[in-house]
Amino acid sequence: MSSIEQLPANVVNKIAAGEVIERPASVVKELIENSVDSGATRIDVEIEQGGSGLIRVVDDGSGIAGDQLLLALTSHATSKIRSDEDLFRVRTLGFRGEALASIAAVSRMQIRSRTPAASGAQIETTHPEEPQVAPCGCPLGTTVEVRDLFFNTPVRRKFLRTTQTEIGHITESFSRLALAYPAIHFTLSHNSRVLHELPPADSRKGRIRTFFGDDLADGLIEVYGEDEELRVSGYAADPGHSRGNNRMQFLFLNGRFIRDRSLQHALNEAYRGLLMTGRYPICFLTMQMPAEMVDVNVHPTKLEVRFQDGGRIYSHLLGTLRTQFLNTDLTAKVQTGHASPSGESGANSASRPTAPTDSGSPFALPTSLAGPNAGDETSPAHVSEFRLPAHVVQGLTTESHPLSNPHALTQGGNRLTHFTERPPAADLPNGIQSHRSEPAGATESAAAMQVLNRYLIAESPDGVLVIDQHALHERILYEEIRTKVLAKAVETQALLVPEPVDLSPAEAASVLGQTELLEQLGIRVEAFGGDTVLISSYPAMLANWSPAELLRTVAEQLTSAGKAPERRDLLDELLHMISCKAAIKAGDRLSPTEVEALLQQRELARDAHHCPHGRPTALVFTREELDKRFKRT
Ligand code: ADP
Ligand code: MG
Repeated sequence: MSSIEQLPANVVNKIAAGEVIERPASVVKELIENSVDSGATRIDVEIEQGGSGLIRVVDDGSGIAGDQLLLALTSHATSKIRSDEDLFRVRTLGFRGEALASIAAVSRMQIRSRTPAASGAQIETTHPEEPQVAPCGCPLGTTVEVRDLFFNTPVRRKFLRTTQTEIGHITESFSRLALAYPAIHFTLSHNSRVLHELPPADSRKGRIRTFFGDDLADGLIEVYGEDEELRVSGYAADPGHSRGNNRMQFLFLNGRFIRDRSLQHALNEAYRGLLMTGRYPICFLTMQMPAEMVDVNVHPTKLEVRFQDGGRIYSHLLGTLRTQFLNTDLTAKVQTGHASPSGESGANSASRPTAPTDSGSPFALPTSLAGPNAGDETSPAHVSEFRLPAHVVQGLTTESHPLSNPHALTQGGNRLTHFTERPPAADLPNGIQSHRSEPAGATESAAAMQVLNRYLIAESPDGVLVIDQHALHERILYEEIRTKVLAKAVETQALLVPEPVDLSPAEAASVLGQTELLEQLGIRVEAFGGDTVLISSYPAMLANWSPAELLRTVAEQLTSAGKAPERRDLLDELLHMISCKAAIKAGDRLSPTEVEALLQQRELARDAHHCPHGRPTALVFTREELDKRFKRT
């Protein structure tokens, strides 16, 4: 074994570069971050040959004094922190003092800069010697040019993908920063062609609009939630807009784009039941919290962070989104120029419970928002007016809505009778009603007609509503049983004689491994020897089902969930299954009373707009749309 020696600086920097500079997009990110930190109001990014030829970032920020240029290229040299304590109150994007040194180690780099106090200077790398500093004339601010990236690390260079791919990554890095700082004027060009020209925007939404277009910007729901230390603000796209991956989930923490699995989970949770399986929500959310609450020094490119109290941030985000969705009308609107709605709806009522893929589903139709919150320029102040205290949000369930009419649903022993006995909403503050997505009584008083034994047609303030009876009923039941499970108030039916059910060994094991979870749903089971399980009670909602059949379905579901599924997910799947089984089916003829009961329940549901699988429960044909189709306009 040879002796231990300190590595020379150029080797150290090359090692650091291996972590920090993965591809041209990493250089773009680091350079833009430096420009943002310098207080720039304008940042121009010019790329040639996908970044392997040239990356030039020009800013009009504070500049670097000539006598500091050499230091700027030295590793662990920074103007942004001074002591280890500062690490826990970082207010700049950079602080590691590594980026310029790393980039310089793997490229030919030149910096020209001028501060307001001095004349300009430039520095140029001259591998393998020390970089050279010289005076030069230049405008206020800093211009960094990076040429021949990875010229001295052939393996990295070989790993560069096509120009198109690298430009894709660069655009992504660029977009994250441009969205985080809407007040800064950004441009991005490739081989002298302008890809993005983003003048200063007075709001984040303005920037989103310029970047992603009107269609997405118009489908954004404003989100705002604040407590003493935490603030979430920004936008979430209505479920009509979604993607096949999570790349359109922009989370900014104290001005920094981050990726965080737990917060992504919160986001998916908020959209649960609103999106098809395999679709991902779109959001642009900014979180502000005291710098001490988060450690940003856990990842070389600072993409990941560690929260002091991750659970609290998770709940805050989820709570904020849920409250907002509750106050927003998410009904899908049918628009001109799209495939025939009748054909689409037909496909929609296909047998359940497997969720179909998104192609050809009416869910792919563009949707727009309506109702009191649809205003495009809602200010945060306006939105916070809609924020309800947690206990009210909890209370805004089917049980307590002021439109509730306990008597309408109990007539004649019909199939909807388990919606009985709702206590009047005595303790709800006034005005809740006006926060609801549709004006009171919109469909309540409207007569509806059942057609094809599966759809209900009703008039609404927006136009003509076509409701999928199964999807709607399923949604209503889902919410009802979910609320009851959370309140530990599921009505159960005890069996006079417990029934033994034979299962496969795997099924028996998974059922007996989840007795507590099943108990929450009102299903009580115990071992009976061998692979036989004894069922002694089941949810009253499933009165029409044989207990053995129920247990077998549950067992199948539990076994197919795979190893160690999230408890929350499992419970939710079972809720979906139960509500789907208990709901009226497409093809069931309904009496007028039943139709009316269903419509009234629609008013009360938290999200009556989508069934638990994410399909819409109703489509609206607006008057304008009908007028257009009948050529009245
Ligand atoms: P860090 O950003 O972590 O401090 P860098 O290696 O990226 O480390 O930059 C080193 C230093 O060079 C910064 O701390 C800053 O003082 C200076 N600097 C770099 N880029 C710019 C710029 N565009 N404008 C002004 N100063 C800059
Ligand atoms: Mg930096």
